[in-house]
Amino acid sequence: MTLSHNVQRVQPSVTMQISARAAALKREGIDVVALSAGEPDFDTPDNIKKVAISAIENGFTKYTTPSSGIIELKEAICAKFKRDNGLEYTPDTVTVNSGAKHSLFLAVAALLNPGDEVVIPTPYWVTYSEQPRLVGAEPVIVETRPENGLKLTADEFRAAITPNTRMLFLCSPSNPSGAVYTREELQALAEVAVQHGIFVLSDEIYEKLVYDGIEHVSIAALGEDIKDLTIVVNGVSKAYAMTGWRIGYAGASAEIINGMNKVQMQEVSHPSSISQKAAVEALDGPQESIEEMRIAFDQRRRYMVDRLNAMANVQCTLPQGAFYAYPDVSKLYGSKSGQRDITDSVTLCEYLLEEGRVACVPGAGFGTQEHIRLSYATSMELIEQAMDRIDDALKKIG
Ligand SMILES: *Cc1c(COP(=O)(O)O)cnc(C)c1O
Repeated sequence: MTLSHNVQRVQPSVTMQISARAAALKREGIDVVALSAGEPDFDTPDNIKKVAISAIENGFTKYTTPSSGIIELKEAICAKFKRDNGLEYTPDTVTVNSGAKHSLFLAVAALLNPGDEVVIPTPYWVTYSEQPRLVGAEPVIVETRPENGLKLTADEFRAAITPNTRMLFLCSPSNPSGAVYTREELQALAEVAVQHGIFVLSDEIYEKLVYDGIEHVSIAALGEDIKDLTIVVNGVSKAYAMTGWRIGYAGASAEIINGMNKVQMQEVSHPSSISQKAAVEALDGPQESIEEMRIAFDQRRRYMVDRLNAMANVQCTLPQGAFYAYPDVSKLYGSKSGQRDITDSVTLCEYLLEEGRVACVPGAGFGTQEHIRLSYATSMELIEQAMDRIDDALKKIG
């Protein structure tokens, strides 16, 4: 039996694999601290849960129409884009999907042909390199530099463009690096995109999680030309601790949205009716829970980064957004613990899991071998424990 060429080229998610391995060790009774997860440790706020419960009780449990999302949710999304991003969309230029990951895929499926190239700056979320492959398109990985805060510059973008370039994947705030693009940086990238007519798939799922007074800017808000080329992807998973509800959404031109809707309709019909109701409450209801979570993340961020920087041969810049620390650990490569050689991010993470009982994600999965990713979306107590364990484990190597 042979699987399709597209599927043969796709890699399973590294982060999901590590999380599964940590969960398996836990089931065996081994006490592992998982810093590998990409989701908030908070519970979904009560007001949102209550709306979902009444949706069930009131029989809002059938297929919904239109399949691209119920009108009240589309209106809530349009209001959110206006309020938070200064973006004007109408219900026919937004779509509601089964998670932001799904929104990204729908844009990829709607816009890319086999052989089309997608520019993906490192470090990138593991999914970005694989989704284009599912439709026969080619990820073109472009290395960014630490002196630019691991952000793509307009010159690097321009240099990566070929006649086949169709799309740029952008993630700000970034998973895994926590980098946030400034308005000026986005403006420079937008000029290149507009000049060459390249679509920008802008993943803004972490927009609410920015620190130190930094502003999140949507590239689509920088002018009509760039807005026409941009698919703004967002969702409720990260901001409202609603990962399991599977609601993401996108705003783009009516033509692009129609294409995405066609794919969704034939693929999953529509996202869960109950979750759509809950998402209306998330976007239109009280927003205080976001700030409470953000403040908690901020404290953990500072603590984790300070602890990491106090360890020999670990260098961590303070992330400006999202909930990950992304230290450069490459100075540890070439060291040994007993028979074990630590040569790269994968062998280091294996060592940290087996010796330190802490699960981290190797940077190799995000396209930068020098780093590992540690999530601070877990309790302060567990973070303290994890930092003690990593510190001890690293002291044993030489
Ligand atoms: C978590 C995450 C998503 C996916 O969010 P869902 O709405 O749960 O699918 C998208 N992009 C990035 C960068 C993420 O970390």
